[in-house]
Amino acid sequence: MAMKAVVIRTPNRAFFRDEADPKAGDGQVLVRVAVAGVCMSDVEVMKGTRPLPYVKYPIIPGHEWCGTVEEVGSGVKRVAAGDRVAVEGHNFCRACAWCSRGETNLCASYNEIGFTLPGGFAEYVAVRADLAHPFAKALPFEAAAMVEPFACVVHGAQRARIHREDTVVVVGPGTIGLLAVGWAAMARPARLVAIGLDRSNEATARKMGATDYFTVKDEPVAKVREMTGGAGADVVFEAAGSEAAVTLALDLARRGGAVILSGIAGGNRRMLLESDVFSLKDLRVDGVFAYTTASFEQALRIIESGKLDVRPLVTHTLPLREFEKAFDLLCNRPEAVVKVMLKP
Ligand SMILES: [Zn+2]
Ligand SMILES: [Zn+2]
Repeated sequence: MAMKAVVIRTPNRAFFRDEADPKAGDGQVLVRVAVAGVCMSDVEVMKGTRPLPYVKYPIIPGHEWCGTVEEVGSGVKRVAAGDRVAVEGHNFCRACAWCSRGETNLCASYNEIGFTLPGGFAEYVAVRADLAHPFAKALPFEAAAMVEPFACVVHGAQRARIHREDTVVVVGPGTIGLLAVGWAAMARPARLVAIGLDRSNEATARKMGATDYFTVKDEPVAKVREMTGGAGADVVFEAAGSEAAVTLALDLARRGGAVILSGIAGGNRRMLLESDVFSLKDLRVDGVFAYTTASFEQALRIIESGKLDVRPLVTHTLPLREFEKAFDLLCNRPEAVVKVMLKP
């Protein structure tokens, strides 16, 4: 039996073609893919800009996906055929020092669905059963496919406690930044500011709960100081992935504030900072890499509860065979694009 899948054989050489149907091995489940989101890291895999060992060609990409369990392998108890599942991406080893601390995102042997293992741009994927998290039938598949990127937000954001009187700023209103706006909005802070390069995602940021929106050309540091009586933001979440955004995030935070850095600028870029900024401002700075199993589970429960509606972020849904159009939308942005979903 064969299934349809997107295969990136080498950078810039991708095909929509027949692949052998995967089977559920011992401890695995076979998932029929319902929908898969396209992420900028899929674009990196396509272009060949994702560094080794974080990709292995040929690869079926797709790490933001969900579906229905079609078949279970031997020894699987937690999940049953017919269950709808969202699947976490890191195929961590469960044995190394990091895994035993629950830091599954930092596993000593990197292996991730959609990057080094077959992903969700296909009709079927066979995955380890413990990575497949069942969710209620009432939750739309499009929302469940957003659990993976939201898990990155939850993983970092839970380290910053937001209070009602706080001013929270999110730098970089792409998928992760907009999800961070949604997460912060749940705590109902006094002001929730999004800062972008331009105004293309302003309407979506406001839909997710932003009370104010600035571009980087609007002197955002001065504006945020003005709205906080000169102090600066209590919590800053950076999701832009550039040196300039890191500097901006540190400048925006008040003395005693918290900064969460989740963007990846790439290419070993370096920056110059005033070395005393951390101590003089008594700053809490947290770096965030992906998510743990616990954060994934927490992200799924938040979206499933309906407390956070992620559907405003889905701007396009296309059939899987039109994957090239999806990649083109993300790269060239001829119109407002946040999340493009592919349906096999
Ligand atoms: Zn992603
Ligand atoms: Zn490990």
